[in-house]
Amino acid sequence: MPTYKAPVKDMLFVLNDVLKLERYSNLESFAEATPDIIAAIVKQGGKFCEEVLQPINLSGDKEGCIRHEDGSVTTPKGFKEAYDLYCQGGWGGLTAPTEFGGQGLPWVLSVIIQELTASANLGFSLYPFLTAGVAGLLNKIGTDEQKKTYLPNMISGKWTGTMNLTEPQCGTDLRLLRTKAEPQDDGSYKITGTKIFISAGEHDLSENIIHLVLARIPGGPEGVKGISLFLVPKLIDGKPNRVSCGSIEEKMGIHSNSTCLLNYDGATGSLVGKEHEGLRGMFVLMNAARLGTGLQALGLSEVATQNAADYARDRLQGRSLTGVKFPDKVADPIIVHADVRRMLMNARCFNEGGRALALWIGLQMDLEEKAETEDERKTAKNLLALMIPTAKGVMSDLGYANATNAQQVFGGHGYIHEWGMEQFVRDARITMLYEGTNGIQAMDLVGRKLPKDNGEAIRAYFQMIEGYCKEYEKDYAEFTDPLKKALGDLQQAAMWLMQNAVKNPDNAGAAATSFMHLMGLVALGHMWAWMAVTSDQALKAGASDKAFHEAKLITARYFMNRHLPQTGSYYKKIEAGSEFMMALPAEAF
Ligand SMILES: Cc1cc2nc3c(=O)[nH]c(=O)nc-3n(C[C@H](O)[C@H](O)[C@H](O)COP(=O)(O)OP(=O)(O)OC[C@H]3O[C@@H](n4cnc5c(N)ncnc54)[C@H](O)[C@@H]3O)c2cc1C
Repeated sequence: MPTYKAPVKDMLFVLNDVLKLERYSNLESFAEATPDIIAAIVKQGGKFCEEVLQPINLSGDKEGCIRHEDGSVTTPKGFKEAYDLYCQGGWGGLTAPTEFGGQGLPWVLSVIIQELTASANLGFSLYPFLTAGVAGLLNKIGTDEQKKTYLPNMISGKWTGTMNLTEPQCGTDLRLLRTKAEPQDDGSYKITGTKIFISAGEHDLSENIIHLVLARIPGGPEGVKGISLFLVPKLIDGKPNRVSCGSIEEKMGIHSNSTCLLNYDGATGSLVGKEHEGLRGMFVLMNAARLGTGLQALGLSEVATQNAADYARDRLQGRSLTGVKFPDKVADPIIVHADVRRMLMNARCFNEGGRALALWIGLQMDLEEKAETEDERKTAKNLLALMIPTAKGVMSDLGYANATNAQQVFGGHGYIHEWGMEQFVRDARITMLYEGTNGIQAMDLVGRKLPKDNGEAIRAYFQMIEGYCKEYEKDYAEFTDPLKKALGDLQQAAMWLMQNAVKNPDNAGAAATSFMHLMGLVALGHMWAWMAVTSDQALKAGASDKAFHEAKLITARYFMNRHLPQTGSYYKKIEAGSEFMMALPAEAF
């Protein structure tokens, strides 16, 4: 049976010592986020996840969701009780606006809760995660009436939410969307069509489910310009709307989350935002949803690594190459073996670096809205443009790889259900697929974000990293030198793309995933340099927790020496272009 210990100390280190959240106390919502409040949230959130959500993770996976003849869905044993406790604890309203019952805290704190809940129970976490997404969108673009009707109940958790984009013939390519929305005399719309793969589409946790649905108003423009966004409640004034769950998917992982086929059969909906501007509306929640998906993978990587480390300390096999370490035992624990360490260290430097990166990105999301000057808000916006697809793609690729490596540490036992490791692997796999596949994240980064406004965002990013290196290179060249080298690879890669992508767009497609990972390495390198400097300064100032900061420095060195140099090979792959990738005819495959 796997276990989970919330990484409270590490989270507080990033929030208080690295990002120094206190320095933003002049901004809206940050004043309430005092160090005491932050500590209480991280500790209480961690305790809730350890004690309530984690114990029903394995059983929830085994049991799954059950659809009944009447289309209703039952979640696994213990989920309803856990959900009620989640709502009573006010976790769903932590960063939601106070006027609708939320606590109005900075958005960056929801990053903490997302990681914690994903580690403890990813399937469960998706129910409130989607609800928060829908509520966040309504808060930004809903009418006053919609906000008043839906937000209080969604923020309290009484009602949950879903996002409905996908249809059988329409996944990545939303131009192919067919669901219809016919205007009615009373200003409402009748929604008809089939949506598939809808997470949390039907369940027994909440009194009502509010579906956010993309559909076409007949007579509108072709393609994505003719798509509008609608709210379709499962119940209207307590009476069933014409939306039903046709089936739930039998899938690889996240069994405790009901992934539904939803039939809309003339269901009553209301328009959100303007007609034909549905995609623009959906983009409002895209940043949060994509970062959240990266966090799901990070959460799984963290819990999988914790269990692998415990196992590696216990499991006795073989002897250390450098001589017997535990002569009183029949064999040494496998943690003495460098190859096992490799897997644990790889995961550790991603988990801690990824956490810092996600929190820093979360902070940018606050700053994009709340920073005092237009310049600061613009900088945050530019950074987010690059970092959101990078965080989603890189964190989910690496999170999945780490979950697999953590499973590998268990040897054959990792393949057996009761250890929980194979569940982490299965659950992590979805994060690379939904919310836009990772290939699409990479294309978004390279095809849209990089060239936008003449490369304004990437130039701002280069400047920021160069500035950081300049500030610390005198005392911390050990960390800034490899970061500068990695940045050089990123700059060369960006330059190569500028010169070669227009000539042949397949060069951009062929380079995209490598570029995203190159960018991810630089971003993680920045975080590791920042954390190393922070820990070194803490040690010099006589910090009481010496072991914690020394471990940070060692992990930073591991990252700088073993991971960051991979930027060179990513650059080489980019530079290889698309010629041989695209040369074979389709029938040769
Ligand atoms: C468990 C689960 C839960 C989900 N939850 C939801 C949900 O709540 N709401 C919702 O609306 N959807 C949901 N989805 C759907 C999910 O977002 C889509 O499956 C995903 O976006 C990919 O679409 P697709 O499956 O149709 O793949 P396709 O679009 O058919 O893509 C297939 C492959 O081709 C690649 N590809 C496609 N187009 C391009 C291109 N132009 N350039 C380069 N490569 C390309 C993709 O990267 C992918 O590798 C869920 C899916 C699953 C499995």
